[in-house]
Amino acid sequence: MSSEHAVATSAVFQAGPMESWLERHRWQHPGGMEIPGKLFLKEPLGLTGAEVSLGQMPPGAGVSFVHTHKQNEEIYLFLTGQGEMLLDGESHPIEPGTVFRVGTTVERTWRNTSSEPMCYVVIQAKTDSLEQWTSEDGNICGDAPWA
Ligand code: ZN
Repeated sequence: MSSEHAVATSAVFQAGPMESWLERHRWQHPGGMEIPGKLFLKEPLGLTGAEVSLGQMPPGAGVSFVHTHKQNEEIYLFLTGQGEMLLDGESHPIEPGTVFRVGTTVERTWRNTSSEPMCYVVIQAKTDSLEQWTSEDGNICGDAPWA
């Protein structure tokens, strides 16, 4: 594990245009499964408090497995396409702008039932780890920089 990222104060990574994610990115699960269109950002950005991944699923495709997590809740933000999210077997519609928070033990999977690519972002963060946010955590620093 590299410690370079831990001391960096910021990082930038170019994931490419959303429509190119399927060709550009591919994740190899340690168990041997391969997921085209999937890119995890923890490594390229040196994330320390969350894992974020980008995904693109072709028309008519679906995740070929159901999964849960040990300690991270997940937030799914769907950007394009339409489909179906199964949460403990219960179906929920997906369309652009649909956001799900999924607790650790919930069995989840999703599919793209539309004729266009489904692009989405998944954020993983440790359940109950968020202690302050928004106005409690943010600091306004001086005057507007673009004036
Ligand atoms: Zn997951």
